Amino acid sequence: MKDVLILGSTGSIGEQAIDVVGRSADLRIAGLSAGSSWERLLAQADSTGAGTVALADPSAAADARASGWAGTVLAGEEGIRELIARTEPDLVLNAIVGSAGLGPTIAALSDGIELALANKESLVVGGELVMALAEASGARIIPVDSEHSALHQLVRSEPPGVVERLVLTASGGPFRGRTDLGGVSREEALAHPTWDMGGKITIDSATLMNKGLELIEAHHLFTVPYERIDVVVHPQSLIHSLITLVDGAMLAHLGHPDMRVPIAYALHGPDRIELPVEPLDLAAVGELTFEEPDTDAFPCLRLAREAGVAGGMAPCVLNAANEVAVGAFLAGAIGFTGIPVVVERVLEATPAPAATHFADLFECDSEARRRAAEELQQLTPAANGGAA
Ligand code: NDP
Repeated sequence: MKDVLILGSTGSIGEQAIDVVGRSADLRIAGLSAGSSWERLLAQADSTGAGTVALADPSAAADARASGWAGTVLAGEEGIRELIARTEPDLVLNAIVGSAGLGPTIAALSDGIELALANKESLVVGGELVMALAEASGARIIPVDSEHSALHQLVRSEPPGVVERLVLTASGGPFRGRTDLGGVSREEALAHPTWDMGGKITIDSATLMNKGLELIEAHHLFTVPYERIDVVVHPQSLIHSLITLVDGAMLAHLGHPDMRVPIAYALHGPDRIELPVEPLDLAAVGELTFEEPDTDAFPCLRLAREAGVAGGMAPCVLNAANEVAVGAFLAGAIGFTGIPVVVERVLEATPAPAATHFADLFECDSEARRRAAEELQQLTPAANGGAA
């Protein structure tokens, strides 16, 4: 029996992870956590039998305790770390959104616990230090992101030294092919053509920042230099990623876009379980198409690649500025094209030396957020895509 702790259980990945755990007699939920959705969290705990939960928001934790729930409710970031220590899981699935996921990633790896990682921001913000910690503690990191799960499965089937390139596929998001993005609405940006995901990653997919974050994630997970990682737009989202080998062969991972597949692989791999996911009917699919990403219309992908190549804490700055800008876009405070403007300005203005300790990353994240908040105030209508 494997005890699984799901962090971010009330989100899109978290809910699907509970579904996947429920399909196997070999897995048991050790505990659950959320940000502030305490009623949903307690309902999940009741249905899965989890006796200990944590809420990052202390006032939500106070409400959960006041409800008279019989289990233990831990509070704050410290509470999430305590949840990991108390429940002693065999595996932590980190499905928290944003750089808030970094602390729990560090806590799980420090305790030598296997980590199924959906929270790509952990590796974007702290790639070198996180990978070094995993190496030192012997804890495995198993990717949950569909592209990285695909790459993990493809790469592990090959002997060392034969993989030439990694190819990440991108759906292109709802605005693929468009260049007039100044006036697009929140609702249009949230309408992803192929994946059903949480709000932040859906906006990141629309700006192509998500693919940029995945590029940085892939660089760290597979120790491949940036110049050997390509991004190709594949609007059908049926090929989840590819590898190119020294003999010119390419291997691809295909399937319907359903996150339960990579989640199940992260929890059970290399074994596989049955899932209610139809295999592709290739004749019905008909054709698979590919195109170059348009980094003029979608500068976030370029900014992420540049930050990755620059190294040091540039990816940490990129991520923090992006989180602030996406939050402002979702709140209606800036236009869609204001997002890359804020990210670029914060990247230009923020020193980003290499991090020696995790504390450097938290400090850099706060500083970049402060600068991003300032940039939001200074966005002119022209820089903001015409929005006032
Ligand atoms: P959601 O927004 O749907 O869920 C996020 C989860 O994190 C919720 O449980 C939320 O709790 C919790 N949370 C929010 N803020 C905090 C905080 N400060 N501290 C602790 N917990 C917090 O996100 P997704 O499920 O879409 O994405 C989660 C991660 O997985 C992201 O890193 C994303 O990039 C990655 N990912 C997602 C995919 C998808 O298909 N959704 C695909 C591949 C990767 P509450 O409900 O209380 O707000």
